[in-house]
Amino acid sequence: MCTHADESQHNNLPCLHCQPHSYIRMVQHMIERCILLRMTRDECVKALDHHASILPLVTLTVFSYILGFASVLQKKLHDIFPPPRSLERTSKRKQGLL
Ligand SMILES: [Zn+2]
Repeated sequence: MCTHADESQHNNLPCLHCQPHSYIRMVQHMIERCILLRMTRDECVKALDHHASILPLVTLTVFSYILGFASVLQKKLHDIFPPPRSLERTSKRKQGLL
C-alpha cells in the first residue's frame, strides 16, 4: 500500500514513487493528447500541472524524451525511405542551395 501522500493519491492516479513506469506512461499519454490538441509545450506543462498536479519538471522530462524519440524516428525513416530526387532538389532550392 502506498504511503506517499500527494495529490495523485486523491485522484486515483499511479504514484510516481511506487509505480514509476505507470506514472510516466500516464504523463506520456497526457502529453500526446496535448500535442493532438495543438498545445505548445508550455501550455501542456501548465495544463498538466493545473488539472492533474503533474510536476512541471516531470512533464518537461517526458516531453523531451518524446521529442528526442520523434527526431530519431524521423531520421531513421529518412534513411530507410529517402525522398525522391525531384523533391530533394525542390527542398534544396527552397533552402537556397541550388
Ligand atoms: Zn507511493
